[in-house]
Amino acid sequence: MKPRTKSEEWFATAQRYLVGGVNSPVRAFRAVGGTPFFVERAGGCRVWDVDGNEYIDYVLTWGPAILGHAHPRVVREVREAADRGTSFGIPHPGEVRLAELICRSVPSIEKVRLCNSGTEACMTAVRLARGFTGRDKIIKFAGCYHGHVDSLLVKAGSGALTFGHPDSAGIPQDFARHTIVLPYNETEPVRAAFAGHPGGIAAVILEPVAGNAGLFVPRPGWLEFLREITAREGALLIFDEVMTGFRVAPGGAQQRYGIRPDLTTLGKVIGGGLPVGAIGGRREIMDCLAPVGPVYQAGTLSGNPLATAAGLATLKELGVATHPPDGNPVYRRLEELGQRLEEGLREAARAAGVPLTINRCGSMFGLYFTDRPVWNLDDALQSDRERFRRFFHGMLEAGVYLAPSPFEAGFLSTAHTEAEVEATVRAAAEVLRRV
Ligand code: PMP
Repeated sequence: MKPRTKSEEWFATAQRYLVGGVNSPVRAFRAVGGTPFFVERAGGCRVWDVDGNEYIDYVLTWGPAILGHAHPRVVREVREAADRGTSFGIPHPGEVRLAELICRSVPSIEKVRLCNSGTEACMTAVRLARGFTGRDKIIKFAGCYHGHVDSLLVKAGSGALTFGHPDSAGIPQDFARHTIVLPYNETEPVRAAFAGHPGGIAAVILEPVAGNAGLFVPRPGWLEFLREITAREGALLIFDEVMTGFRVAPGGAQQRYGIRPDLTTLGKVIGGGLPVGAIGGRREIMDCLAPVGPVYQAGTLSGNPLATAAGLATLKELGVATHPPDGNPVYRRLEELGQRLEEGLREAARAAGVPLTINRCGSMFGLYFTDRPVWNLDDALQSDRERFRRFFHGMLEAGVYLAPSPFEAGFLSTAHTEAEVEATVRAAAEVLRRV
């Protein structure tokens, strides 16, 4: 067994001072049991814990580290930015450059507001949709997570789902009453909701590829359907691309699937590992935000120079907006690695006689211990979580760090190579025989 003493000591101390020993619930490993490891450092596709154990990392700080950890260019540009000041609270060129690059890369985005997290971005997108349309109701889909926003923490994914609180305590019925939750990938319930609330629905918000209940992709035609019905009904279509933005394609899922939402939320990759979120979309909608319009939104640290430096360095290194969308070699490479991992794991599961459904979109993947396809939350909940728990710990012991919950996606980075993917598949082949 790998030594864990120092992590255990840190976790004991952490639990005295931090709620549950962590600052974000899934980090506590409650879904899989055991003690979370405490990180000493991270570099490339690897992390090292305080006991000196090394892991191949498929969590990548929950998606942002698409270039791997501590990428030299990102570190250099953040360091240089820090020398010029860590926060200004007044305009600076870096935030304009990042916004411009986002507008040039993401098909539907004409203007941007930067904020500090994906949660903030989604909260603002919903407020903006309500302000723009003058309507109150929001449609969301079960298993999608849009941050810990009051009105969106209803049948939510990620940690809320992992811990069995998809509907959080502390949210007045009155707030949640405006949120209509429907099953992902279905059309009839959406039609019925619009029919039942004529002129009442401000927006449909969704993860265009759902990565917070494992991973499931949109059925062919479903996003087109949502685009068409929202346009017809005068509601906005909001793509939450906090996870998929600059991840599944340079222009996000909307580019990959060829759909133009009205508003898009971003986070994760655009901050290169520092805290950033963004709302973007059609000019006339975005201009409803203060100081131009009446929808209020603000932030002391928004457009923070370290965060914009990290984000810019990351997007430049990814080569976004410099190639035609399907000709970007970095994303092609990520796709190849994803495919290799998917094929390797599928073969390993087959050889071990373990039913495993693997969903993948580019460099994002989800693993479900079930023999059935997974298209929505109900399907995801059918998977064998106890088997996932054993698989997770077996892989961790073999030096592979997967997300510590069956309801989280995995990620690859440009720092992963065939060697790590092959080592992972070898480890999985062995662990799957024991789970
Ligand atoms: N939306 C999606 C799709 C996400 O995956 C996340 C975070 N996992 C969020 C919103 C919230 O972002 P943050 O954690 O930065 O607040």
